[in-house]
Amino acid sequence: MINCDLHTHTSYSQCGCHSVLEMLQFAIQKGLKAIAITDHGPMLKPRTPSTFFDRFENPYNDKIHFFKGMECNYSKEKGKIDLPEEYKPYIDVILLGFHFNTPHQLGIKQYTDLLLQAIDSNKVHVITHPIDHNFPLDFNEVAKFCAQKNVALELNNSKIELKLITPQEQRKLIEICLKHNCPMVVDSDAHTVNQIGDDTLIMPLLNELHVPPELIINTTLEKTLNFLKK
Ligand SMILES: [Zn+2]
Ligand SMILES: [Zn+2]
Repeated sequence: MINCDLHTHTSYSQCGCHSVLEMLQFAIQKGLKAIAITDHGPMLKPRTPSTFFDRFENPYNDKIHFFKGMECNYSKEKGKIDLPEEYKPYIDVILLGFHFNTPHQLGIKQYTDLLLQAIDSNKVHVITHPIDHNFPLDFNEVAKFCAQKNVALELNNSKIELKLITPQEQRKLIEICLKHNCPMVVDSDAHTVNQIGDDTLIMPLLNELHVPPELIINTTLEKTLNFLKK
């Protein structure tokens, strides 16, 4: 079970349904130890006010650990991501993922290069939903490099739930991560309160493949904090 959900969206993102406080309240109700609010980076035109980063404090500090994060995008300039300089001091979790703003049909080599260059030039904790049919990747290259750089590849519950990827595809990626000793993170990518902490489509795969718990970075708060400190 995910203790620390590191990928969730609020209504600051164009695709999210609820407020930061509602997300926090449901995460507490569900018994999570930590939640990260990771609305989209500026290229996807979120409504996140700067005050979320520089003024907002978790009112439920005694009940749950709160991480401020952003799900960043690859910018047109190679090696650049859309994390605004002014928010860097306040951000605990930096996610990076391909979204519709990246041109399609570039091919596996170009998407893989884009990803490796971005990891090489920026502090990034997690590559979100690495399996995306619009943005194919050389997973052996990616997992090898991520293992070297201590970047986690995400096992995204929502993408299976929404039938955007199959459990078989997810299983293959886990096998590649095992081969290269690449850290993984289990995330809900919740856009609604009911999805918070949901890992029900990922856990059977981890059990089936006997994934050692030390390779999953967010099974306990302590491990999560250690990983994010890097
Ligand atoms: Zn995403
Ligand atoms: Zn997301």
